[in-house]
Amino acid sequence: MTKDDCIFCRIAKGDIPSGTIYEDDDFRVIFDRGPATKGHALILPKNHVANIYEIDEATLSKAFTLAKKMATRMTEVLGCDGFNIVQNNNEAAGQTVFHFHIHLIPRYKDDDAKVGWKVHDITDEEIEKLVALFK
Ligand code: 5GP
Ligand code: ZN
Repeated sequence: MTKDDCIFCRIAKGDIPSGTIYEDDDFRVIFDRGPATKGHALILPKNHVANIYEIDEATLSKAFTLAKKMATRMTEVLGCDGFNIVQNNNEAAGQTVFHFHIHLIPRYKDDDAKVGWKVHDITDEEIEKLVALFK
């Protein structure tokens, strides 16, 4: 299923040319148009789903298995020193294109990419309260 007004549906289907480095029946892997580092790529499922809440488990498993394969291959080809796998869901988490995607971000020693978060303090009591929410 595709969504007519979704840019990643159009790219994944091949209607809009993109720098494709891998394709199979379920996914297309393209280079990001606003890369964090050299080689920053995106895994796009061909079927439209907005985010991790909507994607079925079988497709998600395939997507992350593909992420491992791509990270391995891209590390060989690009000679990067590390790798971030990033996957944003909803605006609050930084998602800007609402078609599920996995960022493949090669990292190089001393690159200027900012992938991270501010570290806060937490007490043992606060952790216990969080744990209790899951009981
Ligand atoms: P998000 O912020 O939703 O996790 O990531 C969306 C990503 O898609 C961004 O890194 C942005 O640079 C990339 N992007 C947005 N539009 C296009 C496009 O038309 N083509 C490609 N290749 N990447 C895009
Ligand atoms: Zn879509």
